[in-house]
Amino acid sequence: MTAIETPALADPVPPPAADSLTMMKAVAVFPGKPDSMHLRTMPRPTVDEIADGRGVLVKVLRVGVDGTDKEINAAEYGAAPTGYDFLVTGHESFGRVEAVGPNVTELEPGDYVVATVRRPGSSIYDRIGTYDMTTDDVYFERGINLRHGFLTEYYVDEPEYIVQVPPGLRDVAVLLEPTTVVEKGIAQAYEIQRRLRVWRPRRAAVMGAGTIGLLAALALRLRGLQVTVFGRTPKPYLNSDLVEALGARYQNTSDASILDGASRHGPFDLIFEATGASPVVFESMQALGKNGVLVLSSVTGGDRRIEVPADRINLEFVLGNKVMVGTVNANREYFEMGVKDLAQSEVQYPGWLGRLLTHPVHGLENWKLLLDTLSAARGVIKAYCVVSDL
Ligand code: BGC
Ligand code: ZN
Repeated sequence: MTAIETPALADPVPPPAADSLTMMKAVAVFPGKPDSMHLRTMPRPTVDEIADGRGVLVKVLRVGVDGTDKEINAAEYGAAPTGYDFLVTGHESFGRVEAVGPNVTELEPGDYVVATVRRPGSSIYDRIGTYDMTTDDVYFERGINLRHGFLTEYYVDEPEYIVQVPPGLRDVAVLLEPTTVVEKGIAQAYEIQRRLRVWRPRRAAVMGAGTIGLLAALALRLRGLQVTVFGRTPKPYLNSDLVEALGARYQNTSDASILDGASRHGPFDLIFEATGASPVVFESMQALGKNGVLVLSSVTGGDRRIEVPADRINLEFVLGNKVMVGTVNANREYFEMGVKDLAQSEVQYPGWLGRLLTHPVHGLENWKLLLDTLSAARGVIKAYCVVSDL
């Protein structure tokens, strides 16, 4: 912050309390301690915390929450930054630029923005901007691991990690970070399939009809594929309606197994797995068509064991030249792709994205309601904190 000059004449409006200019609220946990989420105050960041006049100060407007936040509060995941015993949570951000350092040309105050999550380590992939592909053992993720997150009033970062969003997307831009996970997975699949010289995918399956599954169905429909979404959510929940609104097919897995569904609607050229349940991976391997690609995105922290028809799965993979790839996180490139897909979605399926924003919770001080909504409310697709009005 630059110093505020005192006007010569008396100001009729009383100045804000000194505290509100220098301190801010944040939602944090003590990593390693279950159920330690709490509200705290901490110093408000300033643009000059970033070297070379390259700081961007962002006022946080909305922050989405997901399974990762649940796991962090359960102390199954997450670490505090060096020098702190707490971690500010929140990695699905949306905000507005408040101030920029003198050497920032990319952004200006008033711009709507979303921050990427991971920050580079030291592997070659980190050094070329593909920090989502790091081979380091330790990774740095804002709101998740070793870096404070966005469930707070302000954050500061370098322009490299802040992606501009057009004002016309401001009502739905809190969905950008989960969208980037999908963008990366699909981009990786297309990249891998260049091995085939000609690849014209026609049928796709999405496993899971949660936020990621729905966004994957959207991205695949936007690319012109026929899509079947396998889900477990019964009516009257919105999930199947949302799938059908995209012109995709919803297959309830309590009515028919994935393999039955695949024999009817497959074989699939591309499968995006986003159920959070690892056994589905092995069924998906069997539902995949010849030359197909299976993208795995579920972060499964457990220790589940199952029996699988190993010979058959292996044989079909070998004889069918199939590929399976894991995907995590997303770098700036995928955020930029995500912005384009969100924009195309608003044109092609107007209002559809807004229907995913089922559960707003107002104010950082209502973090407990946010957490309870995420874990226990019925029909949640996306729960998010309205930190400040748009
Ligand atoms: C986040 C990703 C992150 C992953 C693993 C997900 O919830 O959306 O950005 O890489 O968790 O920590
Ligand atoms: Zn996430």
